[in-house]
Amino acid sequence: MADSISAVSHWLERLSALHRNLMRRFAAEEGLQLVHVEILQYLTVCNRYSDTTQTISEYLGQTKGSISQSLGHLEENGFIKRSQDKVDKRVFHLALTAKGNSVALRMLNSINLEGADKLEPALKTMLASIQKKNGLKGFGTCQSCKFNQSPGKNSFVCGLTNEKLSVDDVKKVCKEHEPLVSGE
Ligand code: SF4
Repeated sequence: MADSISAVSHWLERLSALHRNLMRRFAAEEGLQLVHVEILQYLTVCNRYSDTTQTISEYLGQTKGSISQSLGHLEENGFIKRSQDKVDKRVFHLALTAKGNSVALRMLNSINLEGADKLEPALKTMLASIQKKNGLKGFGTCQSCKFNQSPGKNSFVCGLTNEKLSVDDVKKVCKEHEPLVSGE
């Protein structure tokens, strides 16, 4: 048992290091740092409740100060833009500009993961299981969230915020995600 856990830990570490190395190589080619492309990539997948400095720092596991510095660089160079929340004026949302989106797309295409798509369901299950067993939550999608309500075909409401969600919204990563009891 201990041997198999150690082997799983080894392969997770290898995969994670490999992926980060490929991202770092792409970032260097673009004249950016790894954290910059990690932020750009995150902003392509997060929903409107999860696009703040605080949430990015939680997702990437880095201090808010360090993320703020990286965001400043990305904003100054036209990769991202900020907008004030319409209700809570203390909150600023971050979004990709066309330039930032194009870098994020190039990064996705720069890593050849051909054939790996078959592994997605298993990877999602593994991620959810590790999060649950280690008392971590968040950053899942609406599909597996206990707050997701589907009043009609292609019609969704978030039971936590009582706001409507589009078909596109429900595919995005959310910091408020809480897994279904028996699911992910
Ligand atoms: S249903 Fe869950 S994952 Fe979707 S927006 Fe609401 S809290 Fe987030």
